[in-house]
Amino acid sequence: MVALNYETKHIGKNKFSRPGYKLFPVKAFVLHYTANHGGTAENHFSYFNNLKGRYASAHIFVDRTKSLEIIPLSEVAFHANERKEGPLIPSLKATAGYYPGGNANLNTIGIEMCMEKDGTIHPDTIARTILVIQKLQKQFGVLPIYRHYDITGKRCPAPFVSDEKLWTKFFVDVKKEDDELKFSSGTLKKEWETFLGSKAQREIAVKAAVEAGYSANWIKNFEEGKAENGDVAALAIGALIKANK
Ligand SMILES: [Zn+2]
Repeated sequence: MVALNYETKHIGKNKFSRPGYKLFPVKAFVLHYTANHGGTAENHFSYFNNLKGRYASAHIFVDRTKSLEIIPLSEVAFHANERKEGPLIPSLKATAGYYPGGNANLNTIGIEMCMEKDGTIHPDTIARTILVIQKLQKQFGVLPIYRHYDITGKRCPAPFVSDEKLWTKFFVDVKKEDDELKFSSGTLKKEWETFLGSKAQREIAVKAAVEAGYSANWIKNFEEGKAENGDVAALAIGALIKANK
């Protein structure tokens, strides 16, 4: 069992990594991986603290031993904006005078999973990232979780793109490990329906739900709209089963 080990150590203001722009109300959490073989959270603190010549950053870095917040969660980080046309998730498109193109950096929190030397993401890193998401959900509400890939098409986090099962298991586990988190929002249901847009993804999600111990009866209840506690996984699964018919 991993521990959250959440540390806060902010990098200095830097136009390339920490511009100091105020973050809009948070609408989603965005998952990344560092694509940097063997780089730890501390390594990335140093890197982004000294960044020059390219725009990049994220709020939180998670590795095998800890999670490290390097940018205040009230400020913008540069992590999910490669598309001139704006994000693939239209509801995340935001603009500001200093940032006119329309992008998701203004209203999302970016979380980076550090990569092992062999290119994988260690199971402890994934487990700790789940704890980070749960912490954020307590602060900001049970918001949708997206891969960078879902927002701009970039293959990030690559292991979660090449293996959809790993990704589906991730968001089912986020739900599974903390039943106390609740929400009741049709908007969120819609987000999840968008997210679970492909038939293949939905089938994998149902399978993951069953494997995660959700009974057929439980799934049926949610399918029929009896989402009493309105939890994320339930609504997602209900929505996907409905959409799958
Ligand atoms: Zn990314």
